[in-house]
Amino acid sequence: MKTAVICGAGGFIGSHLVKRLKSEGYWVRGVDIKKPEFSPTAADEFLVLDLREEANCRAAVVLGTGVVDEVYQLAADMGGMGFIHSAECEIMHNSVLINVRMTHAAATLGVKRYFYSSSACVYRDMKPGEPEMTEAEAIPANPDNEYGWEKLYSERMAQAYSRKYGMVVRIARFQNCYGPEGTWRGGREKAPAAICRKVAMAKEGEAVEIWGDGSAVRSYTYVDDMVDGIYRLMHSDLKGAVNIGCPQYVTVRELVEVAAEVAGKRVLIESIPGPVGVQSRNFSNERIYSTGWRSQFDLKAGLRRTYPWVKAQVEAASGGA
Ligand code: NAD
Repeated sequence: MKTAVICGAGGFIGSHLVKRLKSEGYWVRGVDIKKPEFSPTAADEFLVLDLREEANCRAAVVLGTGVVDEVYQLAADMGGMGFIHSAECEIMHNSVLINVRMTHAAATLGVKRYFYSSSACVYRDMKPGEPEMTEAEAIPANPDNEYGWEKLYSERMAQAYSRKYGMVVRIARFQNCYGPEGTWRGGREKAPAAICRKVAMAKEGEAVEIWGDGSAVRSYTYVDDMVDGIYRLMHSDLKGAVNIGCPQYVTVRELVEVAAEVAGKRVLIESIPGPVGVQSRNFSNERIYSTGWRSQFDLKAGLRRTYPWVKAQVEAASGGA
């Protein structure tokens, strides 16, 4: 039986990845500074550890007299645009420490295969309709925020450890990911969850607030697709960073419209000032396509699975509907 540790298994993508590895027959250890918020972990073992500490990173990968076969590193101090723009120091301090310690522990203890979760935030701002960027075009670098710089640094560190210690490293650059059991309130939520929450709370014909004029272009990847991409990439021979994202580009305004359609509600859109982030991101998915991966969920299909979950959280938080 293959063994794996998932760092960040108390979080959104990590907890879904635990389920996927279990369905592939793995023995899974989840590690996080907190337990999953919305449902019990599917992991065989769950360790609550602060991965900024090297001893904890070592404890995370040691199994019996050896180490786990695979490490999936998804732990990070992160959130949506609001958090990314207000917590620059926390992001750079905490996430760099996690990655410095975890990469070092895994490589020096002899882990054979290591996955690192990077982000589309490593790319520069783009104009809508600009030709798609390949992974190599992230350099020369000009990320729009410090979160992107932290990701670039940690990508490079993982690759340096790979060269020195022979650990196989696979790096994904995720587009925005959404789905059930993602953070939906509190300041760390990302746009799809925030919009679902606002639509769920709005009465028929009421306005939903968005940051900026809603013309910013994004691509949103449903969590089952993301997890499938992670699994395929980890077991591929693709070296270097690999974009994973749904090829459907939509504006933030369209995101609201699709959420409202799924909810069966008519809502208005009201622009307010806020941290919009980049104007557009258009990437090539050719590298991940070479593994046979394709996005199975367009935005409407993904929101059909996400909106009811967010709506249920909203209703539970307000004492039932
Ligand atoms: P998340 O916040 O739900 O999960 C991250 C987890 O890391 C959390 O459970 C958190 O408790 C844990 N963590 C934070 N500090 C820790 C520490 N010191 N020790 C141990 N655990 C700690 O985020 P997510 O959406 O599941 O993202 C997972 C990874 O994917 C992150 O690296 C993130 O940067 C990356 N990513 C996510 C998206 C997205 O849209 N969700 C997009 C691009 C990249």
